[in-house]
Amino acid sequence: MRKQIVAGNWKMNLNAAESQELIDALKAQTFNDGVHVAIATPYVHLAAAVDQTAGTSIDVAAQNMHQAASGAYTGEVSAAMLEGIGVKTVILGHSERRAYFHETDALLAEKVNAALENDMHVIFCFGEELEDRKSEAHFDLVTSQLTNGLFHLNASQWANITLAYEPVWAIGTGETASPAQAQEMHAHIRAVLAAKYDDALAQSVSVLYGGSVKPANAKEIFAQTDVDGGLIGGASLKAEDFAAIVNAF
Ligand code: PEP
Repeated sequence: MRKQIVAGNWKMNLNAAESQELIDALKAQTFNDGVHVAIATPYVHLAAAVDQTAGTSIDVAAQNMHQAASGAYTGEVSAAMLEGIGVKTVILGHSERRAYFHETDALLAEKVNAALENDMHVIFCFGEELEDRKSEAHFDLVTSQLTNGLFHLNASQWANITLAYEPVWAIGTGETASPAQAQEMHAHIRAVLAAKYDDALAQSVSVLYGGSVKPANAKEIFAQTDVDGGLIGGASLKAEDFAAIVNAF
């Protein structure tokens, strides 16, 4: 059975005290046992978050990392540095990284390799812009993001990959893909994986949906056959809302 996962992406929000407060509030929530829960905090809060969540089922993730092992890359953080403070998961390819920091599929492929070399788990984000959907290029676009970012991996490396389909037009906009639109794309993603690898691999990879998931719509989205959870932005900043989403399974 595929892993069900709900990951919160805090983005560039919350100071140290607020981060601590939110983690305390999350620790006071009851989460559905079967669901893997992760929170991606800003870099500066990661070490404290790892300490604060020790002994709980909450996994702490980074929102990004550099592809090089070390060197003259001012302002950057490597996989080994993350791994060294106990961070075992990293989000790569978020649409905000692609749009504002010009991260390409080729660069993301390098980042994925660096993360896997350091035994980290990757939540790999991808998804189409509104224009792609309007011009009905969304399936091709998603296929090419997967092909160029991930299809150099061998089958065994996929054990450390979770996919997060996030239509860019639904991120932070209040606009959600309908459950049917999410299912249609998730089924496409699995078909593309099966064609490149095989059906067993395609059925084993968790594929999350991201884009304005809230307590009110999570149940319907998570009920789709090929949706294995969510990557949650805005609603992950409120413990009750995040817990309600986790418990929507
Ligand atoms: C995200 O940042 O990955 C995201 C899905 O944001 P939101 O839930 O706010 O749309």
